[in-house]
Amino acid sequence: MLSSLSGKSVLVTGASSGIGLGIAGVFARQGARVAISARHADKLEAVAAGLRGEGLQVQAYAGDVADTASVRALVAAVAEAQGGIDVLCSNAGIFPSGTLDELTAEDWDQVLGINAKGSFLCVQACLPYLRKAEYGRVILTSSITGPVTGFPGWAHYGASKAAQLGFMRTAAIELARDNITINAVLPGNILTEGLLDMGQAYVDSMAASVPLKRLGSVEDIAYAALFFASQEAGYLTGQSLVIDGGQILPESLAALA
Ligand code: NAP
Repeated sequence: MLSSLSGKSVLVTGASSGIGLGIAGVFARQGARVAISARHADKLEAVAAGLRGEGLQVQAYAGDVADTASVRALVAAVAEAQGGIDVLCSNAGIFPSGTLDELTAEDWDQVLGINAKGSFLCVQACLPYLRKAEYGRVILTSSITGPVTGFPGWAHYGASKAAQLGFMRTAAIELARDNITINAVLPGNILTEGLLDMGQAYVDSMAASVPLKRLGSVEDIAYAALFFASQEAGYLTGQSLVIDGGQILPESLAALA
C-alpha cells in the first residue's frame, strides 16, 4: 500500500481529456488537490465540474504550455490557490500526422513547441514550488513513439517525445539537489479522444498488434504516474516506464500468431 497523496497539491497539464483527465481523476480520488489545465477553458471547466460532482478537489486553470507567459501565470495561480505545488504531471501534447514529404517547418515547430518545450517551461515555472515541497515530483508523459519505436507520419512527434527524455535525464541530476524526482511514462496506444480521432481502422490495427489484445485505458497510465508521484518512489529518478500491453515486444507478426 502506497502512502496517501492526501492534501498534496498537483498540477496536471493537458487534462481536459484523455490521459491527463485520467491522471487527474486517479490523483484526486487519492485525496490530492488537483489543478487541471488545457487551452480551451469551456471544456476544461466542464470536466472540472464533473469531477467536483464526485466530491473531488479539482479546479480548472486555462493555459497554453507552449507560451512562456501563459505557463508562468498558470503556475503562479495554481500555487497561490493550492498553497504550493508538490507534483507536476506534464502531459499536454498533440500528435498530428504528416510524412516527411508533407511536413513543414511550422509543423515541426508546433509539435516540438507543445510537446518538448512545453515540458521544459512547465518544469522550470514549477521549480520554486517543487523546491519548497516536502518531496517534489515531476512526471512527464512521453510515448513509445520516438524513444522506442517509429511510425510513418510521426517523425516530428517521435522527435518531440524523445526530446522529453533527453531533457529529463539532465533535469533529474539538477533536481536531485532539491530532493525532486523526475520520471516519464511511455504509453503505447491508449484509448483517448485524440486516438479515436485517428479512425476506427487505426484503432483496430493497433489493438491487433498488442500482445494483451486491447488498447490501454487512461487509468493504466494514471496508476503508473501515481507510483512515480508516491513517497515510496523517492529513490527513482530519470527513468522511463513503458506501459503498452507488450506492444514493443514482438520481433515479427509471426510472434503474435
Ligand atoms: P488528447 O485526448 O488529445 O488530450 C490532449 C490534452 O492536451 C487536451 O486536454 C488538450 O486540450 C491539451 N493540450 C493540447 N495542446 C495544449 C497546449 N498547447 N497547452 C495546454 N494544453 C494543451 O490526448 P491524449 O491521447 O490524452 O495524449 C496526452 C499525452 O499522452 C500527450 O502528450 C501524448 O503525446 C501522450 N501519448 C498519448 C498516447 C495515446 O495513445 N493516446 C500514446 C502515447 C503518448 P486543449 O486542446 O484544450 O489545449
